[in-house]
Amino acid sequence: MIESNNLLVEGIHDFSAENFGDTQSLLELLNQRADFVAALITCSELQVHHTMSNVMSGQLLPVENLGGIAMPQGEDDSQLNSSSLSTIAYSVERYNLRHLVVCGHLDCQIVRFVLNKHRADDPETSTLYFQLGEATRGIMDQFYGDLSKERIRPIIMQEHVLLQIESLLTDPHLRNLIAENDLKLHGWVIDDETNAVYAYDVTNHSFSAIG
Ligand SMILES: [Zn+2]
Repeated sequence: MIESNNLLVEGIHDFSAENFGDTQSLLELLNQRADFVAALITCSELQVHHTMSNVMSGQLLPVENLGGIAMPQGEDDSQLNSSSLSTIAYSVERYNLRHLVVCGHLDCQIVRFVLNKHRADDPETSTLYFQLGEATRGIMDQFYGDLSKERIRPIIMQEHVLLQIESLLTDPHLRNLIAENDLKLHGWVIDDETNAVYAYDVTNHSFSAIG
């Protein structure tokens, strides 16, 4: 559950409001169209078709990988192929997509990794999670270090999603499309227990329930 008073710290991400799409307009578009209009960059742990069916009947092109990652330029390798920006940019071009949705979920392994503060030399720590979750953990340590685990838990995935959006903006091809108003960004977080979907509102810098 994401509470509306669970405010995100301002100034971590440098976003322009015009780069983000309107959630209701996207939902209407998805329900009207039979072809793909949006890609959903999401975590492979999530059964996204099942989860999303209560929100919309339209088609989202899933780009699934562990953690719902958009790996920054130069940091992707063959193991993380489906997370690479070039894969995402290819999907946008191939299907002429107008919206990119980064969609995380609250019960993600990434959240556990960040909460448990595993160290790199801890034998139980997967190097994969280090690669995928370390940037999010850095933000949590730097900006939310004083909060309790209960307060911090829902914020982790919100910040993780916003970080992936930042990453999308580092791709020159995607950045051009966004600058030309041909591609809009969205950030969503799903509550695994209730299937509620929360969307990022850049104006209020907060996530609120949709659908
Ligand atoms: Zn996950």
